[in-house]
Amino acid sequence: MGPPGAGKGTQAPRLSDHLKAPHVSTGDMLRAEVAAASDLGLKARTFMDAGDLVPDHVMIGMIVSRLQADDASEGIILDGFPRTVAQAVALDEALYDAGGSIDLAISIDVDREVLVNRLAGRATCKGCKTPYHLTYSPPATAGECDKCGGELEQREDDQPEAVKNRLQVFDKQTAPVLDYYRGRKKLITVDGAGSPDGVFESLVSATSP
Ligand code: AMP
Repeated sequence: MGPPGAGKGTQAPRLSDHLKAPHVSTGDMLRAEVAAASDLGLKARTFMDAGDLVPDHVMIGMIVSRLQADDASEGIILDGFPRTVAQAVALDEALYDAGGSIDLAISIDVDREVLVNRLAGRATCKGCKTPYHLTYSPPATAGECDKCGGELEQREDDQPEAVKNRLQVFDKQTAPVLDYYRGRKKLITVDGAGSPDGVFESLVSATSP
């Protein structure tokens, strides 16, 4: 968990490799629905482009069915879910029904100023989804992915107005979820200000038994 730009989408795939557990990003799932122009994608797009949350019932339905897939039986890394207390409660209920529970909620904490700078330069390869930052970690050739030569794109919701709204949405709707897990002694906080490698090291040491 963490505000937009904290590094969830950078760290979650690394943690997924490290723990050999599938990475489940609700943002990626929604973007795939938008790209496929499905009914769900068309409905979700308006919320996403404005930086608002997609309604709880849609998100809860999406995650509950994802949890039932075979590859989720040994555990998953959730990225971007839950983002409201209602989602956290629904997740606890679904896991309880399946005989499981949350192991740990990880909060990646970063200063607001750093977040805004990160989001303004964020770009992703259209093809292989490799993340770049146009100032801090640009590709060798401008606009072209180092790994696959694909075109780089910036997210609609990384535009300044949407970013402002996403930060407000985080404070109002998602910060209470941190309290929810803190109260249940499930929350750990990792400083997300450093390099991706440095943050990953802290993440691994904080999550090792
Ligand atoms: P992300 O890639 O995690 O930043 O998510 C991008 C956008 O997808 C968010 O700004 C929301 O509009 C939507 N979204 C992703 N996860 C959720 C969620 N758990 N609840 C509601 N909306 C979500």
